[in-house]
Amino acid sequence: MLLTIATTHRPATDLGFLLHKNPARAQSFDLAFGKVYVFYPEACEERCQAVLLLDVDPVGLVRGSGGNRRRLMTEYISDRPYVASSFLSVAIARVFGSALGGRSKERPELAATPLPLVATVAALPCRGGEAAVRRLFEPLGYCVRVEPSAGQGETGGKEHAVPSRYRNVSLEARLPLRDLLAHLYVLIPVLDNDKHYWVGEAEVEKLIARGGDWLAAHPERNFITRRYLKRQPRLATEALRRLADEEGDAVDAEAAPGRDREQALEAPVRLNDQRMDAVVAALRGAGAADVVDLGCGEGRLIKAVLPHAQFVRIVGVDASVRALEVAARRLKLARSPDAERGRVALLHGALTYRDRRLEGFGAAALVEVIEHLEPGRLRALEHALFRFAKPKTVVVTTPNREYNMLFPGLPADRLRHPDHRFEWTRAEFATWAGAVAEAWNYTVAYQAIGEADPTHGPPTQMAVFSRCA
Ligand code: SAH
Repeated sequence: MLLTIATTHRPATDLGFLLHKNPARAQSFDLAFGKVYVFYPEACEERCQAVLLLDVDPVGLVRGSGGNRRRLMTEYISDRPYVASSFLSVAIARVFGSALGGRSKERPELAATPLPLVATVAALPCRGGEAAVRRLFEPLGYCVRVEPSAGQGETGGKEHAVPSRYRNVSLEARLPLRDLLAHLYVLIPVLDNDKHYWVGEAEVEKLIARGGDWLAAHPERNFITRRYLKRQPRLATEALRRLADEEGDAVDAEAAPGRDREQALEAPVRLNDQRMDAVVAALRGAGAADVVDLGCGEGRLIKAVLPHAQFVRIVGVDASVRALEVAARRLKLARSPDAERGRVALLHGALTYRDRRLEGFGAAALVEVIEHLEPGRLRALEHALFRFAKPKTVVVTTPNREYNMLFPGLPADRLRHPDHRFEWTRAEFATWAGAVAEAWNYTVAYQAIGEADPTHGPPTQMAVFSRCA
């Protein structure tokens, strides 16, 4: 099994510090199931490539196992010793453990720094074909290249083509090395759905530890978790529940009672309608022809923009499948000529990950969405939106916390919705929006939504970002 990791970061040999493996010498490690070799075919200032080669030892492996396990292992090994499998994940964890944990003795700051990285995995089993690989890696920001894999058979050196479901996969992205390793650690076994080397309670812990951050918001997290913990539905359910706790936004936002409370609070000021009117006006004013509604929920904004012929393409994105189902029903997409023509579409996706489907839009809207994200995840959304998707105009609305004391039903210090992670004052919103605009080359203008109180301001605040040239 073969994994390569290359970088063009300067100096590229920093890769050696991060992997805790000296580029100047080849090393080998004995694991229970075989031998791992780590070496660097290339190690200079401009480019450095590390290779992890895992040579599975079928005899040793079978000797160490009894009964059923032994039979399983025998099949497994004689089946396909060269195919990237969960053994490769175990090897990554054992040989690159510090790097996977984000620890670097010599260069701690480097461990957290996004670097230009390219990983290749040879003979990766791709159930579901190339599309499956893309579905797993592209939402994480990778540029994915997939080639058919051809190689030597395992018996008698006789050459034959490796069965077609194996692919050589190359993954390119700018990200911290520890993230790359964590993605591989979790996703290789997901693609290798055959027989897993390990299946046990400890795997839930590993999955949460390695996948917690990014997996919680991955659009395919259910699929990944079920596959990773295959044959263990109880474990998969437990893992999904814990992942939901970590990034509760998408899941909790589905909880109707909270949404109802927010609507009941805001109803007397007809805030909802005023908000939609203001956002539609901003989108029209920007002259956008295509608009993406990020965190579209049940499709209220989509419904409001549909009557305007100016918008030739309208796309809603949400992490909640249930919200999307309600949106599809409300917009009657099943019987809509607009949907048929492709003028309207709904996409399942996470806003905190780069998503190529969202690139190239004239305008994006985030209506009452940012306050559902953990403050720590806002940065990821900023990158996905302002750095990668880069729409010409971005309209963001969020509650103005100063106004909360004027809602009769809302106790002091409570937020409007139980799923809100924060609600900002006007000054806090302006500080965030100003910094984002500055960082990503946008200008920003603010607008009040709803009737403003002389002291506490409006109930809702809106920022309209415009990209500079
Ligand atoms: N914009 C809609 C819904 C607002 S509620 C409206 O004004 O009616 C917030 C929505 O954001 C929810 O539907 C929730 O599922 C979605 N959401 C929250 N975090 C998300 C994330 N990280 N990725 C995608 N959608 C997310």
